[in-house]
Amino acid sequence: MTKRILWSMFSIALLAAALMAALVVAVQYKAFENRIVTELNTETSYIAAMLPEDNAARADVLASLSSRNRITLIDPSGTVLYDNTQPASNMESHVQRPEFLAAQTQGAGLSVRYSDTSLEKLIYCARRLEDGTVLRIAATQKSALGILSGSIFPILLLLALLAILSILLSKATAKRIVSPINALNLDQPLENDAYDELSPLLMRMERQQRELNSQLDAYRRKQTELTAITENMREGMILLNSKGVVLSMNASAAAIFHVSAADKIDGDVWAVTRNVTLQQAISAVLEGKNAEVEYEEAERHYQFMANPVLQNGKAVGAVLLLLDTTDQYAAQLSRREFTANVSHELKTPLTSISGYAEIMRDGVAKPEDTQRFAGRIYDEANRLIALVNDILELSRLDERKLLEKPQEVDLLAVTQEAIGSLSPAAEAKHVRVDLQGEPVTIKGYPKLLFEIAYNLIDNAIKYNVPEGSVRVSIQSEGGQATLCVADTGIGVPEEHAPRIFERFYRVDKSRSKESGGTGLGLSIVKHGAAIHNAKIEFASQVGQGTTIRVVFPHN
Ligand code: ADP
Repeated sequence: MTKRILWSMFSIALLAAALMAALVVAVQYKAFENRIVTELNTETSYIAAMLPEDNAARADVLASLSSRNRITLIDPSGTVLYDNTQPASNMESHVQRPEFLAAQTQGAGLSVRYSDTSLEKLIYCARRLEDGTVLRIAATQKSALGILSGSIFPILLLLALLAILSILLSKATAKRIVSPINALNLDQPLENDAYDELSPLLMRMERQQRELNSQLDAYRRKQTELTAITENMREGMILLNSKGVVLSMNASAAAIFHVSAADKIDGDVWAVTRNVTLQQAISAVLEGKNAEVEYEEAERHYQFMANPVLQNGKAVGAVLLLLDTTDQYAAQLSRREFTANVSHELKTPLTSISGYAEIMRDGVAKPEDTQRFAGRIYDEANRLIALVNDILELSRLDERKLLEKPQEVDLLAVTQEAIGSLSPAAEAKHVRVDLQGEPVTIKGYPKLLFEIAYNLIDNAIKYNVPEGSVRVSIQSEGGQATLCVADTGIGVPEEHAPRIFERFYRVDKSRSKESGGTGLGLSIVKHGAAIHNAKIEFASQVGQGTTIRVVFPHN
């Protein structure tokens, strides 16, 4: 800035000085020339008046004069008779000289000629004497160029002065312009006390700052919204740029990959996971292709979806989504397993029913066996009915299609009912069933609570020993209601204990079938307890007996 101001100042000063000098020189020059011409005319008139008539005498008079000017005497034919600067004999004829010609014709003549170098100008003044001889006097005047070249030193001095002045002034001016700009408070543009010319700039700055602030506010709001959404998402979400740099990673994604989001943001996505399947999907998405893969890590099942962010057909980034599908996957797996098990369980009784019926149809059976076979068919059909009932009950529970609304249920009464239904079975097995406790009301589903009590007591009878016993108790403690079924039966070996609540899991298949078991009783108990938010406690010792407690929470 200082340099620019310096140059413009210096140029203006130089131009002004040059114009001034030219004007002065032009005016002075013309005045000087006029003076010389007047002086020459006067001098020529004086000398002409004092010259004798004889040319030789004239030359002598002229030689005796001491004049700064050149004096020449020319005869009417143009031959130089005398010249005070050089011998007349060396000089050429002057017949063509304009001043001579003018003097010859008009009596006086004036002519101006430049020297060879143009630095000097010669002014010739001629006058015709009475006998036709011409007296010429020439004076030298420096030309404008000559005057200038003669004053080169003062000019250089002036230029140097101008340069110094320009430097000082431009520095001061630049400072005066720039320092208020440097001192501006850009946060509050309109509160600055700067010179007027800055006002439009400050106003524009203020407007732009307002726009910027509102844009920044909108951006911050969006950012907060996005963070709130992504941070509360169960799904893991990672945003990448086109080079695979992590732009954002939510808490779920960080938890799934066991990394810290703060460490990985702005880092390479390849450092987030070493899983080859995922890395292939990420490579694909960075090339602009969609990718969806499933993968397992730390016994959890995930669905990984990678979608490119396209702009004009080019991938400028990618969104990676991770869904924890462990539950759905497990449910799908157990549904498949359940269907296979159901088919298998139904097939066995149906095969024996069909076998016995075939024998009877073909009349192959002896008459005394017919009744036995019919009895088998009846038993298998009953097993089928029990199985189908249990399957229906379980699928109802799976879909949570409960017939009733939760209501106040007396756990003691429901248990009593279940014991009543099971008393023939208990008698047949010679197992004694005792019930202790007082009425306890809980909020729940009567039918489901009946199923829970029924299945537990049924098992306690089925897997008991002859002359064994079952102690059923209802307790209410600390606001919790507990249904406890303890038997003196065969017990469950420790290795089987964790699995007996699974569908169709039986410790001893043939014993279960013999006693009409379906392998679904405890699954119904587990499901029913879950619906009532109840906890199941299980304790068993082989040969000693089993105790199962269902603890219902506060109402
Ligand atoms: P099941 O219809 O075969 O009784 P459950 O789901 O009710 O099916 O029980 C699963 C398995 O757990 C049974 O087959 C049995 O082996 C075992 N079990 C259940 N209750 C008892 C118990 N009280 N004593 C010993 N074993 C039991």
